[in-house]
Amino acid sequence: MDLREPAVKSKNRRGCLLFLGASGYDARVVAAVLSIALASGAPRPLVDAVRVVPGLRLDIRYATARNITGRPLYAAGRCLLLPETAAALARVQARLVRSRRRLLVWDCYRPPSAQRALWKIFPHPGWVADPRTGSNHERGTAVDLTLADASGRPLLMPTDFDSFDPRARQGATRGIPREALENRERLRAAMRAEGFITIRKEWWHYDLPGARSHPILDVPL
Ligand SMILES: [Zn+2]
Repeated sequence: MDLREPAVKSKNRRGCLLFLGASGYDARVVAAVLSIALASGAPRPLVDAVRVVPGLRLDIRYATARNITGRPLYAAGRCLLLPETAAALARVQARLVRSRRRLLVWDCYRPPSAQRALWKIFPHPGWVADPRTGSNHERGTAVDLTLADASGRPLLMPTDFDSFDPRARQGATRGIPREALENRERLRAAMRAEGFITIRKEWWHYDLPGARSHPILDVPL
């Protein structure tokens, strides 16, 4: 991780939309402004993944006290992602539904304030991204998730979310029940088939390729 890499901070354009709407601009003018912003590479709005991924299950841990910090880091248990991340997740879900399984999401977009709080409590590079560099969760391109059965019950996996146990590594086998290994591999195969990439230390974390080319977004949750 190169800590010298400058973080690109930018406000989400939803704030811009609200401002324009409140100022009485015509909807067509707003749409034109948006299209110009898109063409210029400006940050794009995040989408709510439950609207894009049919049957997506949520257990957004950082909106609760059930995480490594022991307290909520943001208010709303929502899964916001860049549109292409959500679309890829929808394709993964379609694959899994054929075998009566579902995705169960633990974390999606994470505001910079939450990343700073996480780093303050657990400043360990490799597990938590330094806020100066930024996490791909702040870019809307990363997702932490597991598998559930058709009724939403989580399937057995090598560890729980945000575990620092060696069994949390991708590819770990020692001390892991066969059923958990099979579930982890089933998740990995489905995610990779739709373009997601893995990281070494966390079996639950997936990124879109080229994530660092997207700006960090500052959207309240
Ligand atoms: Zn993650």
